[in-house]
Amino acid sequence: MSIELYRDEHHACLMFTDLVEEDGQAVQANQFLIVDHGVGAVIDPGGNLAFNELYLGMSRFFAPQQLSYLLASHADPDIIASLDRWLTSTRAKLVISRLWARFAPHFAKVGKTEDRVVGVPDAGGILPLGQGVLHLLPAHFMHAEGNFHFYDPASRILFTGDLGASMTSGAEAARPVRALRDHIPRMEGFHRRYMVCNKILRLWVHMARKLDIAMLVPQHGAPIVGARAVADFLDWIETLECGVDLFDQRAYQLPTAQIDPAVNAVRAPLRAVQGG
Ligand code: FE
Repeated sequence: MSIELYRDEHHACLMFTDLVEEDGQAVQANQFLIVDHGVGAVIDPGGNLAFNELYLGMSRFFAPQQLSYLLASHADPDIIASLDRWLTSTRAKLVISRLWARFAPHFAKVGKTEDRVVGVPDAGGILPLGQGVLHLLPAHFMHAEGNFHFYDPASRILFTGDLGASMTSGAEAARPVRALRDHIPRMEGFHRRYMVCNKILRLWVHMARKLDIAMLVPQHGAPIVGARAVADFLDWIETLECGVDLFDQRAYQLPTAQIDPAVNAVRAPLRAVQGG
């Protein structure tokens, strides 16, 4: 399913969601296409599960062979495991944190990534796209050590990767959230376990408040839309204790419990993710 997040005469942002058949094994993920004056970039293209559907779905709006960039917020499998196939089917360059620039080639066949990986320094930067730009914003430790968000000044959309992720599926995953309060339970467990610590969230919020954000769009679940909901999200995340804040010696005991492959088989990953 594709959703138009923004469109004007020269610029469009599309979200693709639920491309992967729901079998309970893989977490729901969103992929994005940004086109400016006929030049295109994909954000967080996804894993092999999403490749065929995304390639075909995108073809209705933009010729994938013409893509200039694959932007990866970080190097997780649901972000970039399809890298080999994108490098084969397009001439696009991978734009990713310098920390992952030499790890990402492990997703591709030998030689495929030669001259096609752009390593982004920790400070981020401004990337030309068509006649406009995309801002590559530092978002390190949210959750990956080298992590970027992508701000599109034309649409005022901030693409936040795992930040703002909600554990939903089906139509619910795409339905815009305009009032944050009822949405927090869908985000809370994930953020408490996957975000590294509150200090990082506070530093990021300080930066993010300087942006004019119409919509905050995560890589999992629903977009957070409108000034009120975005401001409420920043307020919520700023005070959230998470990650190492919540860990103490109890989490680091020599284990005694048996891992039973039958009992521990992944059948309901959404619960597993939220239960962190
Ligand atoms: Fe991730």
